[in-house]
Amino acid sequence: MMRQYELVDRVLGYDPGADESALNRAYVFSMKAHGLQLRESGDPYFSHPVEVAGILSEKKLDCDSIITGLLHDTVEDTVATMEDIRSLFGDKVARLVDGVTKLSQLETMSDRAKQAENFRKLLLAMSEDIRVLLVKQADRLHNMRTLKYVRSDAKRHRIASETMDIYAPLAERIGIRDWKDELEDLSFAELNPDARGSITKRLSFLKQRGGDIVGRVSAELQETLAGRNVLAEVSGREKTPFSIWRKMRRKHIAFEQLSDIMGFRVVVGTQEECYQALGIIHGRYRVVPGRFKDYISIPKPNEYRSLHTTVMGPENQRIEIQIRTREMHEVAELGLAAHWHFKQGVQQDGRQYRWLRGLLEILEHAEAPEEFLENTKLEMFSDQVFCFSPKGELKELPRGATPVDFAYAVHTEIGNTCIGAKINGERAPLRTELKNGDQVEIVTAADQTPSPAWESFVISGKARACIRRYVRSQQRAEYMKLGREIVEKAFRRESRVFEERAVLGILPKFSCRSMTELYEALGAGQITGRDVVTSAFPEIRASEYDADGASDPSRSDEPNEFAVPIRGLIPGMAVHLGTCCHPLPGDQIVGIAATGRGLTIHTTDCETLANFVDVPEQWVDVHWDASARDGAGHVGRLLVTLSNSPGALAALTGVIGRGQGNITNLKISDRSADFFELQIDLEVNNVDQLSDIIAGLRADPAVGLVERERG
Ligand code: MN
Repeated sequence: MMRQYELVDRVLGYDPGADESALNRAYVFSMKAHGLQLRESGDPYFSHPVEVAGILSEKKLDCDSIITGLLHDTVEDTVATMEDIRSLFGDKVARLVDGVTKLSQLETMSDRAKQAENFRKLLLAMSEDIRVLLVKQADRLHNMRTLKYVRSDAKRHRIASETMDIYAPLAERIGIRDWKDELEDLSFAELNPDARGSITKRLSFLKQRGGDIVGRVSAELQETLAGRNVLAEVSGREKTPFSIWRKMRRKHIAFEQLSDIMGFRVVVGTQEECYQALGIIHGRYRVVPGRFKDYISIPKPNEYRSLHTTVMGPENQRIEIQIRTREMHEVAELGLAAHWHFKQGVQQDGRQYRWLRGLLEILEHAEAPEEFLENTKLEMFSDQVFCFSPKGELKELPRGATPVDFAYAVHTEIGNTCIGAKINGERAPLRTELKNGDQVEIVTAADQTPSPAWESFVISGKARACIRRYVRSQQRAEYMKLGREIVEKAFRRESRVFEERAVLGILPKFSCRSMTELYEALGAGQITGRDVVTSAFPEIRASEYDADGASDPSRSDEPNEFAVPIRGLIPGMAVHLGTCCHPLPGDQIVGIAATGRGLTIHTTDCETLANFVDVPEQWVDVHWDASARDGAGHVGRLLVTLSNSPGALAALTGVIGRGQGNITNLKISDRSADFFELQIDLEVNNVDQLSDIIAGLRADPAVGLVERERG
């Protein structure tokens, strides 16, 4: 285990400005917090965070990252709290530790059912600071190095496949090549020990037979270049057993046929020398066609630059050669951290980790992802949110998505019948914006249908399309039903019996191809019932037509036999309630058919009706259906004049409350020294309830005038 002073010295070595005392405090804090806890290996648990910090220091990460490495398991596994961390190490470190803790908690939710690519994106999205991800990766690397001590076979297997599926590709994505290689190889050893065993055996056999081929080839390459005045450092290595295995699988070839199992790296001084070295090598050895790549003129999205080529090398073996400058090499080996170290030197202020931001930008904006980016456009930082179903299934949604979007993402039918949601176990409104990592449970009811109001807050295309489709079909159904009722009443008023047969012949006159279309047009108010009657029976003269009482509010309270019943009142569909007079069940009402907008219901004393006296054909006789009186949630609007005195408003709301009215909106429309004028919207069941409330208000001394809004 790394000693305290070794770690501190190493960090100070590359970052003289690091907070030495904070590092020391973190070391001691972690040691005390983990106390006597042991790892499965029998080592003190504390050795783990120290090793993680050590791994991070190899990458020359900043002081906060190292401290986070030391503290990363304290909140999850010991009695230490987030508050302790914050008060001892400040907000920044607390945020990082919190981030790592959250990622660790996500791991427990994950199982084989989750999609690896989505899960990687979730990890990225959750790591708002890339350092969180780097600490998590270092944590995983150390856990993989000590995987053999885990006793449960199943657990070892699960950790190894998770590493292979998720953490190794992530390491590659953030450009830390050696972490990726090591993570892969350690997983491979656990997941397929036989394959790895035979490959390693074969490699050592080849080494025995051929001696130090790598060393000989390196030396020859170096001499060849030196002979032409290019000073180069040449190093070679065998590929990792896993990358050999992957190649064997991908290309379906046997190990014997696998020629380029060695890779060489030529590191030179300048970019010009890269191309010079390439020319010399291509002049000397036979080039394998189709393998040359110039990542210097076109760097990979993660800033990787190098020349790649494959030649038949000195011992007539295919060898892969990468040519690059020292700086390019550091970037390739250490990720963008190195890039920054080269460019900036160590700065004193907090901006020294600009490379982190650069890395985020690259992850965010990479347009044409190559191998390093796994063909995925990484929009997750701004555009996506990832949530779990109660079974742990991961759903990817556009940012701003709500439980309704989630429900539709699970299944159209779930969306169509959803009535509520629980987010992380708590009831939440359907319009709640979901956050990364939320667990969402949708409550459904068989008789629920999509609400047109959902359209105003859903984000996903699927949800919107489903809701629209439903609303449109519902609207058509309502138009049809209403249209049929309108035309039947219109016929009855002329003492005729409505029969479809009588009307079929005149369909073309209304540009309708079917009765369905005619009903819809009637319901939508594009045609009036009277139009249809007078067309079918031209002997009925237009002048004889009378809207039959609809225009005469003085008629009896009883609905006449020609009136169209008004039942379900779904806003935005065939029937609308006037926003001028807010009709309530129990009010005397009349319908006005407006072209293309269906029927608007007004109270018979609504002042707006004055605008329609010249168009009696638009008036439709309506009455409240008995079912409407049972419905709750109708809104009536009152105009109240209230004395400007202490307690007046309390008296007003007291009366309304006793009358079981629910105030949904309250607006002061005028105010003087003595009086307020208020506009109050009340949710009531019917007009009787509202009348009781009005009577109660009128009886209160604080209240002056009380009236219902009349347009
Ligand atoms: Mn850990």
